[in-house]
Amino acid sequence: MDRDFKALESIKHIILVLSGKGGVGKSSVSVQIAYALKEQNKKVGILDLDLCGPSIPRMLGVEGSKILQDTNGWVPVYVTPDKGLGVMSIGFLLPDKNSAVVWRGPKKSAMIKQFLTDVYWGDLDYLIIDTPPGTSDEHLSVIENLQNVKPDGAVIVTTPQVVSLVDVRKEINFCKQVNLPVLGLIENMSGYVCENCKECTNIFSTGGGKSLCDELGYKFLGYVPIDPQLGIMLDNPSGKESDDSGSTNSFISAYKSSPLFETFKQIATTIQN
Ligand code: ADP
Repeated sequence: MDRDFKALESIKHIILVLSGKGGVGKSSVSVQIAYALKEQNKKVGILDLDLCGPSIPRMLGVEGSKILQDTNGWVPVYVTPDKGLGVMSIGFLLPDKNSAVVWRGPKKSAMIKQFLTDVYWGDLDYLIIDTPPGTSDEHLSVIENLQNVKPDGAVIVTTPQVVSLVDVRKEINFCKQVNLPVLGLIENMSGYVCENCKECTNIFSTGGGKSLCDELGYKFLGYVPIDPQLGIMLDNPSGKESDDSGSTNSFISAYKSSPLFETFKQIATTIQN
């Protein structure tokens, strides 16, 4: 293995989370997969490579944390006291949460390389990489930098609408071109389950992701309905009116009572098989 990639040597599995569009729930899916794996006693890291829209620190209630360095490299920010869930994100390097990353391609590529070589994750079972939407320079940089460590593959997130599904085909073609296995597809925001009557209303239509998987021969990982509580937990994880510090990780404690937790436990199990 290339000396540069020592930091990734002790990681057993690397999974990329991709989506054709922004706003379909890619980052929230990354967080939920990571959390479900952690609950299955795996040691997990999340690498947030969505350089222009790093939302993982906020979702996990660690926004505002600073990256520390030790002799091995950058130390991830740990979300749980047992250090079973660590995060690294460009968000930790920005002066404040409203700072924009206005960088040209080469600078972004250099940053991605640094994230993949300089973070000392230690022994991890799973590294979940949250990528930007689409197929951009950043994706090519990730693939190039991972070529010596062979990631397990990609989980692709879509919503049920046709416009989103069209973009999924592009993501799949990208994976084919760069020889990245597709681990499966998740249809997020697939219906809304009424909290009172428990009836599921298909706001946007449903089933497009599953049909696409059937057509192309990929694994369908599951339907994830809209859960208004999830939005609240992830958007304001410390539960304060004005959440500037994101200092607690009450997402972790609140999420266990979300019906989506069961869905993601199943998805995490399928991904491992
Ligand atoms: P992306 O990473 O694709 O841009 P995000 O994960 O940031 O998308 O999700 C966009 C917004 O939608 C966030 O506010 C998130 O909390 C919310 N969201 C995502 N999935 C769901 C869901 N299944 N139920 C409710 N809200 C969701």
